[in-house]
Amino acid sequence: SASLRNVDSEVFEAIQSELGRQRGTLEMIASENFAPLAVIEAQGSVLTNKYAEGYPGRRYYGGCENVDVIEQLAIDRLKTLFGAEYANVQPHSGAQANAAAMFALIKPGDTILGLDLAHGGHLTHGMHLNFSGKLYNAVAYHVREDDHLIDYDEIERLALEHRPQLIVAGWSAYPRQLDFARFRQIADLVGAYLMVDMAHFAGLVATGLHPNPVPHAHVVTSTTHKTLGGPRGGVILATADLGKKFNSSVFPGQQGGPLEHVIAAKAVAFKLAAEPEFRERQERTLRGAAIIADRLLQDDAAAAGIGVVSGGTDVHLVLVDLRNSELDGQQAEDRLHEIGITVNRNAVPFDPRPPMISSGVRIGTPALAARGFGDEEFRIVADVIPRVLQPDTDEAVLAELGATVSELADRFPLYPGYGE
Ligand code: PLP
Repeated sequence: SASLRNVDSEVFEAIQSELGRQRGTLEMIASENFAPLAVIEAQGSVLTNKYAEGYPGRRYYGGCENVDVIEQLAIDRLKTLFGAEYANVQPHSGAQANAAAMFALIKPGDTILGLDLAHGGHLTHGMHLNFSGKLYNAVAYHVREDDHLIDYDEIERLALEHRPQLIVAGWSAYPRQLDFARFRQIADLVGAYLMVDMAHFAGLVATGLHPNPVPHAHVVTSTTHKTLGGPRGGVILATADLGKKFNSSVFPGQQGGPLEHVIAAKAVAFKLAAEPEFRERQERTLRGAAIIADRLLQDDAAAAGIGVVSGGTDVHLVLVDLRNSELDGQQAEDRLHEIGITVNRNAVPFDPRPPMISSGVRIGTPALAARGFGDEEFRIVADVIPRVLQPDTDEAVLAELGATVSELADRFPLYPGYGE
């Protein structure tokens, strides 16, 4: 037959191996999740064949009657989910959503103010090698050295000094909620737009477990594949008055044809995100992160030089601080990988080690919560982590912890029956 297995056995085998990896290990990368099979089915559909430049009802191609239905469903569901007046579901990724949002509101050479990458910000918030750092005059705000919390007084001071046209609130590695009202107050003080990038915490917002930035921001961007649990992609939300600007900034400003197969998968994910099961899963996500943070604050962890950035978490991730540990971020990531836990090393604020090595790991709970983990299982994982990160842990202990990890993975089968 013309199945993938027969047409391209090399790609087929690698996908099968990846399915096996996802099933057999514990995925704790904070930006990852497991999309439901219905989402994967939509994304793997014939919609990949269709060109649909433009927007529902106003396309530059014929034959768009079905994709119009799908894209409109995605738009309407997304607006309802977050209480927004305007939504654009076409950005191919979070980075492209941010590029389009900035492109719509400000001009090259304008000043933007975003969280320093080294303190938890994202590349698109002004990093010098990114479009945001090359096209705009990027100024960074920081977290405080003593408590690792965002310093709103510094933001206000920098805003008054640099008069940015746009302020970015949002993060990739910050374990606390943001004060959106305070951000807006600062933006208004200097006449700047406030852009909130909720890529990481959108799933928490959708379920009411995190403050909603939509009422405070001029524009809110997000990815759809992190806590939101959908296909890889981006979205833009805004007030109705700015909608035209964002529409033309995404297309034709940044992109050509929209990925209607991904948009269909987004629509499915937005439907699921409005259901009670999704809220329950986000609650387990948050409790899991709190359990891990609490465990890493205990004495045996502290004695091994393990700390927790900001002393805890109120979101889906924990930033482990290894500045006082013999292990660096790279070694910690490798050790956890060795026993079947996947995380990413991450710089912590005021990190003395270089970014490629770093002094931290970022640990997230969304994917395990999607798999069905509850408090009991998160407690077991939480206990494994500081034991793996003891500098003198030997091979016998690692083998025992690896067996615990495999047993947990087996207890929660991922995509049962799929791919067989
Ligand atoms: N914004 C934030 C806050 C992120 O953490 C990320 C991804 O890491 C992005 C944007 C970019 O998303 P993508 O990888 O889809 O371009």
